[in-house]
Amino acid sequence: MIKYFFILLFFLNTCQASDIINITFLGTGTPRPNIDKLGPSILLKYQNDEILFDVGRGTTLRLEQLNNNYTKIDNIFISHMHFDHIVGLADFWLTSSLWQKKTNTNIYGPKGIKKFCSQIKKLYEKDLEYRYENNSYNQLNCLYHQDVKKYNNLLSITSFKNDHGHVDNSYGFKINFGNKKIIYSGDTTYSKNVINNSKNADILIHEVISVSKKIYDNNKKLRKVVNSHTNVSQLIQILNICKPKLTILNHALLFGVNEQSVLTRIAKEYNGKVIFAKDFMSVDLGEEINIFNTGK
Ligand SMILES: [Zn+2]
Ligand SMILES: [Zn+2]
Repeated sequence: MIKYFFILLFFLNTCQASDIINITFLGTGTPRPNIDKLGPSILLKYQNDEILFDVGRGTTLRLEQLNNNYTKIDNIFISHMHFDHIVGLADFWLTSSLWQKKTNTNIYGPKGIKKFCSQIKKLYEKDLEYRYENNSYNQLNCLYHQDVKKYNNLLSITSFKNDHGHVDNSYGFKINFGNKKIIYSGDTTYSKNVINNSKNADILIHEVISVSKKIYDNNKKLRKVVNSHTNVSQLIQILNICKPKLTILNHALLFGVNEQSVLTRIAKEYNGKVIFAKDFMSVDLGEEINIFNTGK
């Protein structure tokens, strides 16, 4: 039965490829190393284009596991400069060069991204000299989000500021095509800006934090972290205002609670569909939303 489902999906993809956007979660984790939930990274595919949102730990490994040959990924959007969202960038750039990616890699990030890129080039200058003869192809071009007015004629990608506590320059992204809308919240606490952009989204990818009372009471550092993220009560408020067709919880910081308990709590106060992201989970958005898992 499952086999036929995938054949059907393939058939639908082939027939209506131009009307479908696909997102695949390469990494759904947090700074904490976890082999099942690598660092945050989402691969978006639309027509012949492939775009990354954040490049966390292990992004290149996940691409390899999906048999992605990297050469189509020319554009990468970075939500903010916390290391868990950018630590895989040098790996992706250098590995894709080794695999003979001949086109440039454009990074669109917040303040600090240009310095970060120039320092990556400096850090690896010996390797670049030796291996790529100063890397005459696949240049790392770093730009600000604001430099992207509209991604192309069919796809619009815009950034908006969220509220990630002490981080001044933290953003989410709005992706529009046709009359469809996908929102990636980035790392944020309750943010009116995220809410305003997310109203009636088809897919809202939102972060979440949940901490058991016992851990919360005993961990001063974690109490500080909580303020920079979205707790479950805030999330319920956001969902009841925005009413996305599908909510995908990503970058989940769960301490002393599990995913099911979070979903149960949300379901008591919100009627819409909510799921947790998993590495390799893939979602097609077209006339309808289809969720499938390309995990190996
Ligand atoms: Zn993060
Ligand atoms: Zn962060």
